[in-house]
Amino acid sequence: MKTLDQIAAALQGYDPQALRVSAVNDFLDRLVEPVSDTETVGVLGALGRVLAEDVISPISVPPHDNSAMDGYALAGADLSHDKPTTLTVVGTAYAGTAWSGQVGPGGCVKIMTGAIMPAGLDTVVPVEFVQAEGDAIRVPPGVVNPGDNRRLKGEDLMQGQPALRRGDRLGPAALGLIASLGLPLVPVFRRLKVAYFSTGDEILSLGEPLREGAVYDSNRYTVLGMLTRLGVEVLDMGVIKDDPASLESAFRQAAAQADAIITSGGVSMGEADHTKAMMKQLGDVAFWRIAMRPGRPMAVGHITEGGHDAVLFGLPGNPVAVMVTFLAFVRPALLKMMGASPSHTPLLRAHSLEPMRKKPGRTEYQRGIVSTRPDGRLQVRTTGNQGSGVLRSMVEANGLIVLHHDQGNVAVGDEVDVMMFDGVI
Ligand code: AMP
Ligand code: MG
Repeated sequence: MKTLDQIAAALQGYDPQALRVSAVNDFLDRLVEPVSDTETVGVLGALGRVLAEDVISPISVPPHDNSAMDGYALAGADLSHDKPTTLTVVGTAYAGTAWSGQVGPGGCVKIMTGAIMPAGLDTVVPVEFVQAEGDAIRVPPGVVNPGDNRRLKGEDLMQGQPALRRGDRLGPAALGLIASLGLPLVPVFRRLKVAYFSTGDEILSLGEPLREGAVYDSNRYTVLGMLTRLGVEVLDMGVIKDDPASLESAFRQAAAQADAIITSGGVSMGEADHTKAMMKQLGDVAFWRIAMRPGRPMAVGHITEGGHDAVLFGLPGNPVAVMVTFLAFVRPALLKMMGASPSHTPLLRAHSLEPMRKKPGRTEYQRGIVSTRPDGRLQVRTTGNQGSGVLRSMVEANGLIVLHHDQGNVAVGDEVDVMMFDGVI
């Protein structure tokens, strides 16, 4: 485990008071390590998990050349180019059982989708293209070329080829692929355990009566929701009051059990509370001001308890800042900890429907609503009020407009980058 000083020393121009977004990701990438323990789970239980070993295909998929259509299997060489071809039907091949007869020149076999191609036949003419007359069919010229409508053995996967790679996050398509290989069990990394609590004396849990100056805890629900979507095991520690004893016991309990601790609130500059002091006392923690909006303050480090170490992500309190810093920094770091290979979801480019004021020298994340123009290209407008406490803006948005560090004002019609929420939020 590297100390924060060691990581900082390895980074060019590290300035904790004005950190670039890219430097934050770089720092976190050096701070966190993938888990090493693995387990074996059933195919369905592997959804959202990270593969711990390459999956090598034990069979070829499909295992035989087979028909892609209902029709007649024939030898492409028998087809005439300029006049109808008449062929004799010598049998029927059904899916699931191999047809074992012999076909000579001028013969064909009625075949169902998925049935094994009879030996010597390489082409399937779909049933709707032929005229059947008793035991014979007439195939008009030009309706099929040799080799058409035949699926080749191993065209999905060849025996011995890697079907999936260690570090792949398994989605529904991957589960189907694993099942298609006949594999009932999947080796995955153990589930990451992440503890979360909200801090602040003004933060109310659900069920408490609203009082002047207080707000209900929304961060707990957005963060726990995003963590659940990510597929980690969540340790929900509720709201922790701003007194040293409660904070100390919460941090110690979290560090003893979890791989990572996420908190919200209490890390901004003028905080009079005990959160920062307790982080400092219990761990190796850096307090940053990041050149971004929203989400400027953030605390990052390690807290160790009883020989067990947890990575700390101390997020700001503002509800939008919490979600943005989670998406920009915490999510990629947790994915690495989960054992996932780095994946770079491409940002979309959309034409801005409105001008945006932007100062070079910080990254801004505006809540955007992306839609399709009549010409098929993408356009984006903002949700209006971009205040970092306006959580409604995250609900209305379907993505974040990313205005990069060096970028300046945006004019109507300019292209901007958008990070879509789909499947993440
Ligand atoms: P802080 O970072 O602690 O200065 O908090 C900044 C703003 O976010 C304040 O207006 C807090 O009331 C608000 N806030 C902090 N934590 C939460 C929370 N868990 N849910 C909703 N709002 C919060
Ligand atoms: Mg506070």
